[in-house]
Amino acid sequence: MDEFDPDRDEVIQRAKDAGIETMITIGSDLKGCEGAIGLSEKYDSVYAAVGIHPHDAKYFSDDIYFKLKEWASKEKVVAIGEIGLDYHYDNSPREIQREVFRIQLSLAKEINLPVVIHSREAKKDTLEIVKESGINKGVFHCFSGDMDMAEKVIAMGFHISIAGPVTFKNAMKLVEIAKYIPDDYLLLETDAPYLTPEPFRGKRNEPSYLVHIASTIAKLREISMEDLARITTLNARRLFGVGQMLGAGEIAYKIRDSLYLNITNRCTNRCCFCIRFITSYVKGHNLRISHEPTEEELKNAICDPSKYNEVVFCGYGEPLIRLDLVKSLSRWIKDNKGMVRINTNGHGSLIHGRNILPELKGIVDSVSISLDAHNQETYNRICSPVYENAFGEVIEFIRESQKYIPRVEITVVELEGVDIKRCQAIAEDLGVRLRIRKLHRVG
Ligand code: SF4
Ligand SMILES: [Zn+2]
Repeated sequence: MDEFDPDRDEVIQRAKDAGIETMITIGSDLKGCEGAIGLSEKYDSVYAAVGIHPHDAKYFSDDIYFKLKEWASKEKVVAIGEIGLDYHYDNSPREIQREVFRIQLSLAKEINLPVVIHSREAKKDTLEIVKESGINKGVFHCFSGDMDMAEKVIAMGFHISIAGPVTFKNAMKLVEIAKYIPDDYLLLETDAPYLTPEPFRGKRNEPSYLVHIASTIAKLREISMEDLARITTLNARRLFGVGQMLGAGEIAYKIRDSLYLNITNRCTNRCCFCIRFITSYVKGHNLRISHEPTEEELKNAICDPSKYNEVVFCGYGEPLIRLDLVKSLSRWIKDNKGMVRINTNGHGSLIHGRNILPELKGIVDSVSISLDAHNQETYNRICSPVYENAFGEVIEFIRESQKYIPRVEITVVELEGVDIKRCQAIAEDLGVRLRIRKLHRVG
């Protein structure tokens, strides 16, 4: 944007000083896209989105399409946008806007990039076209729709980004939406140089002013600025893959109302059915972590344990390998009114060379232990444990668990050679519930 020609370096420095980790600069026409890419190459903290804005839809051509496609493969191009419909200005004929929107959506789908959608006074057509496209990864930027639209947008899996107008006195409708958007779907933006938030309304907008938008929304949602920053930063990182990622894999991921913690990829078994030997993804979550997360990282990822049904230690390895972390984090979760479950292979006491269950008393609400077989021979065949006597120790672990943990269940995967009836008998004998799992169904 020409508006920043005189002082672009200072603007970017001020953003950094204000705590803005990364910025995504948006192309809206060919020149803008080139500029955005240029900036992303010059500044570490700047990423680019490329797309043709509905205002310029009338200039769209095959050449432009192929240019976008070529640019989209650049490392720091993280989205296709702004694209969409603008029936307020009608700078391009509506029919052409719709057509160009469809084309760019299908491009995004083909190259698997999220989209940044501009929609102004075009609710019905925007929703219809997005739905038709089958895309569910992106953001409705600078949201100006109503509550009904917000609900529909989120139901399709899209994020909603709130800009400066939320700070304006007459922003009743947007205020309600800013309160309503679930944490996982909220993003912030400036839309600089436009839509400057209070107290600078009327002046040129710039990225550092994001803090004014953030503090307004934090107040509305009755959370701290830090919470809001953490939530929206994480959302932006996840959606666009920008900034400092928390390792390649996710350390905390939500399935239904529970939060699952992925604290290690190490395990003392090598089960033949283990999903980690097949894929890195569970329910769309990448679980292949590149480093074992610290307690602090996990707390940041959990945010508020009480908002989940349960916080579950599980993931792509055996959580009790990191017993000290499990204990300390469980205590924190309990202090923060959360419920704790551990999914374990039952090797905890073997790993640490002592009965660890008394140490879990009062800080773990439930435990799910993999029995996996009806006898040692079968266990060794399908689980390949590093300990020869693991099966007997698992049984012992189940027995001890009941003394210190309120709810204990055991699981077995339906596999050839596993005698479910005998597993059932073991469960009855131990006085615990047996859950039978289907092969390759996780979470
Ligand atoms: S115990 Fe769990 S994590 Fe470990 S190998 Fe078996 S299925 Fe995989
Ligand atoms: Zn826009």
